[in-house]
Amino acid sequence: MVVAVDVHKHFGPLHALQGVSLEIPRGEVLCIIGPSGSGKSTFLRCINQLERIDAGAIWVDGELAGFRRDGDALYELTDAEVARQRLASGMVFQRFNLFAHMTALENIIEGPVTVQKRAKKEASAEALALLERVGLADKRNAYPSELSGGQQQRIAIARALAMKPKLMLFDEPTSALDPELVGEVLAVMRHLATTGMTMIVVTHELGFAREVANRVVFMDRGRIVEVGPPREVLVDPREQRTRDFIAAVL
Ligand code: ADP
Ligand code: MG
Repeated sequence: MVVAVDVHKHFGPLHALQGVSLEIPRGEVLCIIGPSGSGKSTFLRCINQLERIDAGAIWVDGELAGFRRDGDALYELTDAEVARQRLASGMVFQRFNLFAHMTALENIIEGPVTVQKRAKKEASAEALALLERVGLADKRNAYPSELSGGQQQRIAIARALAMKPKLMLFDEPTSALDPELVGEVLAVMRHLATTGMTMIVVTHELGFAREVANRVVFMDRGRIVEVGPPREVLVDPREQRTRDFIAAVL
C-alpha cells in the first residue's frame, strides 16, 4: 500500500528525514514510536503530501506521490492533482480539528459532499452508519463544543473514513486526551484494524502497539533505527536507543 524509498526532507538546515525506506503491505497496522522531534509526523505528512519530499520516492497504492506517468515520461502534478492524490489517505491528528460551527453529522458529510460531490442524502446515510461504528449515533446533531475530547476524536475518525480512504494515518491521536478518554478512541482504532484497513499509527501507547500492530518502527533523529514485530521491538529490542526510549516511556 505504501512504499517509501530513501526519503529525505529538510526544513532549512534541519535534516528531518535522513533516508527513510519502508514498505507497508495492504492491511498492515504499523505503529511508529520514537522521541519527540525524530521525524514521525514529518514522515506521515510526506506520505499524504502535506509536505513535499526533497529526495527519494513514495508510492501509495501504486501511484508515485506528486507525479503522473505518461508512457516513459514523468510529469509533476499540479496542486489540484496532488489534492486528489491526497484523498487516498485519511489523516487523524492529535488535535481533532472539527469544524466548530457544524454538527457531528455535518462534519462527516462535508468532505463527501463538497469535495467528492456526492449526494447529500446518500452521504448522510453513510455518515450515520459511521457514527454507529464509532458509537456516537446519538450525538449526530451535537456540536463539537458539546462533545468530550474522546468523542470529538471518534468523530474525526468517522470523518476521515467517510472519504473512503485506502489507508489511514494517525498522528498521536490520543496524546491530547485526558487519560480516561484514551481507551474509547483506541477501541475504535482497534476495531478499524480488524476490518483490514491499512493503518499507520504514530503513538506513545505501547500497549496498543503491542496488541494491535503487525509491526513497530522505532525512529530517532530522522532515521528508522529498528523495525519488526511488536514482541521484538517493544519487548526485546536489538538497539540500545530503542531500549532507552522504551524504558523512558514505560
Ligand atoms: P515528531 O513527530 O517525531 O515529534 P516532527 O516530524 O514533527 O517530529 O519533527 C521533526 C523535526 O523537524 C523537528 O526537529 C521539528 O522541529 C522539525 N520540523 C517539523 N516541521 C517543521 C516545519 N514545518 N518547519 C521547520 N521545522 C520543522
Ligand atoms: Mg509529531
